[in-house]
Amino acid sequence: MTDAATSLSCLRCESEMQSGGVHEFRTGGTTGGWKLLFGEWAELGEDLLKLEVLGCQSCGYVELRVPRK
Ligand SMILES: [Zn+2]
Repeated sequence: MTDAATSLSCLRCESEMQSGGVHEFRTGGTTGGWKLLFGEWAELGEDLLKLEVLGCQSCGYVELRVPRK
């Protein structure tokens, strides 16, 4: 893990990633998709997983990360 708390670089083109805000994703019950993606970690929260959406304005790469407080 690299320590880049303030600014994150795009993994593809190394441009600065822009935050698209924190969104809540439901993980419980309905589908096993999230468990495939996140494993047991998806079950720690009570059916809600908060993820920050980051997008690259340059190449369009999108990634999700756990929001820091
Ligand atoms: Zn990019």
